[in-house]
Amino acid sequence: MAMTGTGRGDADFGGATRKVIQERAAYRCVVPGCVAITVGPGAAANQTASTGTACHIYSAATNGPRGRGGLSDEQLSSPENGVWACATHGRLIDTNAGDAYPATLLRSWKALQEAQIKRARDGQPTHLGWLDEIKADKTVLFKNGSVLSLGQLTLIQGPALGKTALCDWIAASLGSKLSDRWISKNSLILTSLTAFVPEKRVITARITEAGLSAKIDGADCAEIPATVACIYIREGSRSWSKDEDDDALLGRLFAVDPGVIRQLIFDIQRCGSDWGREIAFYREPRLDGHDEDGEEIYSTHKSEWVLRFGGSKGVTMRALSGSESARLLIEFGAALARERSSHMPAILLLDGSEWPFDRVTMDQYGKFLSTQPFQTVMTKVGGWSPKDPACWKEWKRYELRSEVGSAEIVEVCW
Ligand SMILES: [Zn+2]
Repeated sequence: MAMTGTGRGDADFGGATRKVIQERAAYRCVVPGCVAITVGPGAAANQTASTGTACHIYSAATNGPRGRGGLSDEQLSSPENGVWACATHGRLIDTNAGDAYPATLLRSWKALQEAQIKRARDGQPTHLGWLDEIKADKTVLFKNGSVLSLGQLTLIQGPALGKTALCDWIAASLGSKLSDRWISKNSLILTSLTAFVPEKRVITARITEAGLSAKIDGADCAEIPATVACIYIREGSRSWSKDEDDDALLGRLFAVDPGVIRQLIFDIQRCGSDWGREIAFYREPRLDGHDEDGEEIYSTHKSEWVLRFGGSKGVTMRALSGSESARLLIEFGAALARERSSHMPAILLLDGSEWPFDRVTMDQYGKFLSTQPFQTVMTKVGGWSPKDPACWKEWKRYELRSEVGSAEIVEVCW
């Protein structure tokens, strides 16, 4: 079989590397929304011809697009530094010093594409899609026209204001119920969310005292159709009610039936993070108190999950530490996002500003979430600048810089 490449910029990938790049991409262009076929019959009956190209994320040449990114020659010519693109996008990716396609974006696309293709190959249909950006056209918080471009993993850091707002607006633009706190504000909020599902869609959300109204590609819509599944975790664990059954509580938190929660537990044990896969879940009747003789009384209709890590003694879900309960929420959120990504593109919003994660935990979740077939946005309080960027390198990172009404969304490079 002979292969001919018409691509530019792939001269420095060896033939074997090029093959790895194109096959890991299943010959599909890395650009979300692009449906070009990049391989097909060649001139002779026993030949194939490829119109795709293996593009460098960081350049092999010092003055090439996106620079060398501090990588060694060996790293630059490795498959990790390459994406597969159709002929058109291959040219665009390297035009104007690659300014329109920064390395973080290409790496995000590659990670999402590989996770989606892996699932599709293993028999779980996965929809290609990408939430590209949210623009604060006119809001009470940000400078008009401020843009947040999403990566596969996006981290929003900064002072108190704005992080939850961005998550709320993304969620509302994807059809989740809008938090009442925006509706009560006596001012107009206008945002636009761009998605590739896989064709480009712009969802304009307009929030006034009357509530939320939306346009899709400029046309009014009474209800926003669910084109991207949005799983939104606010800092939930503090408000866990005592009287609720655990399944009911998690069901309410994730807006699903309690039966779905039980299914998600199997998924966590099979496909969760290293931490999640280690948990053994036991469902036990809830201890309601003691009778006069000191005997324990168990509830007949409420039960709770007892979690065991390794061989440890069990701990109830509500007795987990702050960090553990946050991790558990991420596991459930990720499991639900995996489930939804079988039907449509998905995004997981983690508004966990106060989650007490240390560097090691963040590192683990960066690695775990970067291999998932959905995008993740996470918030974190500002003033946290890790010395070792290795644990953050999977994340596209933004800082929100004060003042109210004219805050800026600033991308921070490592
Ligand atoms: Zn393309």
